Amino acid sequence: MNKYIEKVLNGAKEKNVHETEYLQAVEEVLTSIEPVINEHPEFEKIALLERMIEPERMITFRVPYVDDKGQTHVHRGYRVQFSSLIGPYKGGLRFHKSVNQSIIKFLGFEQIFKNALTGLPIGGGKGGSDFDPKGKSDGEIMRFCQSFMTELQRHIGADIDVPAGDIGVGEREIGYLFGQYKRIKDIYEGGVLTGKGLSYGGSLVRKEATGYGLIYFMREMLKNNNQTLNGKTVTISGSGNVAIYACEKALEYGANVVAMSDSNGCIYDKNGIDLNTVKQIKEIERARISEYLKFHPHAGYFECENEDSPIWNIKTDIALPCATQNELSLNSAKKLVENGLIAIGEGANMPCTKEASLYLIDKQIMLAPAKAANAGGVAVSAIEMSQNSMRYYLPFEIVNQKLDKIMVNIFNTCKNALDKYNLGNNYVAGANIAAFNKLSDAMLAQGIV
Ligand code: NDP
Repeated sequence: MNKYIEKVLNGAKEKNVHETEYLQAVEEVLTSIEPVINEHPEFEKIALLERMIEPERMITFRVPYVDDKGQTHVHRGYRVQFSSLIGPYKGGLRFHKSVNQSIIKFLGFEQIFKNALTGLPIGGGKGGSDFDPKGKSDGEIMRFCQSFMTELQRHIGADIDVPAGDIGVGEREIGYLFGQYKRIKDIYEGGVLTGKGLSYGGSLVRKEATGYGLIYFMREMLKNNNQTLNGKTVTISGSGNVAIYACEKALEYGANVVAMSDSNGCIYDKNGIDLNTVKQIKEIERARISEYLKFHPHAGYFECENEDSPIWNIKTDIALPCATQNELSLNSAKKLVENGLIAIGEGANMPCTKEASLYLIDKQIMLAPAKAANAGGVAVSAIEMSQNSMRYYLPFEIVNQKLDKIMVNIFNTCKNALDKYNLGNNYVAGANIAAFNKLSDAMLAQGIV
């Protein structure tokens, strides 16, 4: 390994001993940009890599709220303002019981690279809380969001830092967060949050953007290898925002989606998943995916028994992990390859473990990496920001066309980087190198800051 990269990785490990997800994300990027670092020994003197992996600012705060029974709870809120190199900090908020500093930092780090790939002027940030929204009443969710924003509002703004949704934060939560921001600041600042409702400054296609974008990227990757989505069997983990709209677009392209999941288990419907039923269960009733069997008794349901989701045992041509980080282990990757997998598209952030990822690349499976493949969400968020600045709404078809074009550009950017360094079909390296080149250019231009 390049000595400078080795030194930076060792330093990161010493300083961030318990931050496994953050270290995993840093290691993946730094090891894959080795060909570029080899060409630029001068980067060491200006500590370019050390500056790139260190957040500009990490904010943590207390979030108290009172539940419906009158009991007070205290959660921890986070916002990492990772990099403002190419625009205001930009990245979602996650509400999930597993949230900790390591997860927020890994997500923020990934976000800088993802946002650079979109070609749009947005920096990288991420935030959230260890609050678990599952089973909470609407009133509890509202009070938690208000308490969270009461602190967060000091740190954000349309030209400073623009949060959006992520796991556990959808349109409902963004509405409550926006309402509280407006109330405290006494200003209508539409561009301070994205993923807003359409009635007060949201963008058409934002809801669909990550899932649709994933399929646009997959379409390009398959095309480049003389394949199409038409007639392919697809399995999709998760049944949240990303999973649902990836499923919708995959169906439009003629794929047969046979399985989806949540954190309890997965459904298998060999006739093809009925997406309307999934939307009813997940978007309206906020219930468990197992409810699918009430509507479609012929379908199968497999409960999660250990950390390997049963969804990866199902035979498929294309797997789309769209739930969470490290949800696809080496064991699951081996099972998928044994069953004839041809491609994998990362809808979630870092869904493959390091070992799974290396194995899939080694087996020549086409792997669409999260940074590139799920960048459609943040790209349409940036389009939402520009509509807010213009005080104007763009029609669905226009935003969708822009999204499609951005995803094609991202694919081509990754492919060009791959070809330049003779990296075959290693799209993970292609995405990291292309994003790194843009970021390092901006760093060089802006001096030591
Ligand atoms: P949602 O909250 O809408 O859905 C998350 C889905 O993943 C749910 O089905 C959930 O099941 C499942 N899930 C969450 N955590 C786990 C876990 N630990 N184990 C198994 N299943 C789990 O989130 P999104 O769809 O918005 O986000 C999904 C992924 O996509 C995340 O990695 C996110 O960072 C990434 N992403 C999202 C973007 C967006 O625009 N929303 C943009 C780019 C990336 P359950 O209900 O049982 O918890």
